[in-house]
Amino acid sequence: MKKNEISILGSGLIGSLLSIYLRKRDLNVTVYEKRADNRNQEYKEEGRSINMALSDRGWKALEKAGLKDKVLPLTIPMYGRKIHNEHGDTSFIPYGKEGQAIYSISRGRFNQLLINEAEKVGVKINFEHRIEDIDLRFNELTVSSPGNLLEKISSEVIIGSDGAYSSLRNAMLKQVRFNYKQQYISHGYKELSIPPTESGDFAMDPNALHIWPRGSFMLIALPNPDKSFTCTLFLPFEGGRVSFENIRDEKDLKGIFKTYFDDAYQLMPQLADQYFTNPTSALIDIECYPWMLNKALLIGDASHAMVPFYGQGMNCGFEDCYILDNLIEKLGTTAWELVFAKFQKIRKPDTDAISQLAMENFEEMKEQVADPKFIIRKKIEAKLHQLFPKDWIPLYTMVTFSDMPYSEAYALGKLQEKIMDRVMADPLITENWDKMDYEDIIDQLDKAKAV
Ligand SMILES: Cc1cc2nc3c(=O)[nH]c(=O)nc-3n(C[C@H](O)[C@H](O)[C@H](O)COP(=O)(O)OP(=O)(O)OC[C@H]3O[C@@H](n4cnc5c(N)ncnc54)[C@H](O)[C@@H]3O)c2cc1C
Repeated sequence: MKKNEISILGSGLIGSLLSIYLRKRDLNVTVYEKRADNRNQEYKEEGRSINMALSDRGWKALEKAGLKDKVLPLTIPMYGRKIHNEHGDTSFIPYGKEGQAIYSISRGRFNQLLINEAEKVGVKINFEHRIEDIDLRFNELTVSSPGNLLEKISSEVIIGSDGAYSSLRNAMLKQVRFNYKQQYISHGYKELSIPPTESGDFAMDPNALHIWPRGSFMLIALPNPDKSFTCTLFLPFEGGRVSFENIRDEKDLKGIFKTYFDDAYQLMPQLADQYFTNPTSALIDIECYPWMLNKALLIGDASHAMVPFYGQGMNCGFEDCYILDNLIEKLGTTAWELVFAKFQKIRKPDTDAISQLAMENFEEMKEQVADPKFIIRKKIEAKLHQLFPKDWIPLYTMVTFSDMPYSEAYALGKLQEKIMDRVMADPLITENWDKMDYEDIIDQLDKAKAV
């Protein structure tokens, strides 16, 4: 039987980056990917090309692998949210301090780049090889390849980066004392797009993440280097006037877009085609534990798939790779069980925290960003941060522009939220927000931290 040193399941964003880290530690790395190699084609995974927002944690992991400069040319910086109201008026809320940005990048192109880099350093990638079964007693994979040949492969180490529907996690599910929880949210998503203008320019400001928040649903758009925007429509699957179930034909679609997203609608000549061709996808949150069994480990979405509303799923998965690699650096390439045990212990509270925040941010994106008071709240927090940069760091900044453990950001964010709720309860806040006693707010936070 063939024997691998390290088998990585899935060559998605996380598996590809991890394979580079491990290969650079002189390990023999073999990747199994169920999809075909699409590097020679224009990337398009039928209506699911979806852009990603890459932020500090992701960049840090890419930099450690020596990839930052190669990825940068594929990205477009977005310095804030551009909120579109129902009349087409917009307001801009910066994400952080001047110059701080999150970066739009096409998932497909990014994945292609990482796969190329993995091959360059000597990772062996087997496309069209699906993991059918795993015998965890012997770390033995059953892999199918074109022609339906089934092959058994034993492996010293198995790492499952095969996403939310992981085959390794399925094998672990059969073990006693393996905890598992999954939740589909009420909403799904569909990809749409806004093409460049006739003169070949961006149809809207390219340096912002555009949001059309409408209470129980929303549309977002992220820029692409070819001057188009990739849009994602988030709607409830069923119920209400506006849901996937209730858009049955072009007339329904046009009615809803003209009512709620008219400025975007004017820029979407292929809306109906795309809407009725592209799939509607579900959104899932998955928690499980433990992430390891002997020399097998789950990583990325396979261990903690989260809803996409904090833009952190990939960034968090990249941070997983960074932390795992640090442990390998410290403990060596033979102490796998010790490395995996430490990894899951360090990482689990943090991935729980970001998954929870992602769920909570869903509400914020749909509802609060449309509320004028939300904008004031953000302005107050930005001013606090400007006046007392070490004492008050907005939660979004801690998550997106720092590498503070997510669990610490979460705890501090909750204290700040309570104080901000009190500040915002002042009926005259809209008029007075700029003239408040900001030092007193910091005192309140210090007292709350001391409890
Ligand atoms: C709409 C949406 C928007 C998002 N936006 C952002 C964002 O802005 N920022 C961000 O940080 N994150 C974002 N995310 C989250 C991000 O997409 C994921 O966290 C990230 O892709 C996880 O990568 P992964 O490699 O763990 O899993 P995946 O990307 O799912 O890759 C898994 C790979 O494993 C392969 N595979 C699966 N099963 C098998 C098998 N049995 N055998 C062999 N191969 C297999 C798959 O083909 C795939 O290539 C978003 C997610 C969604 C749904």
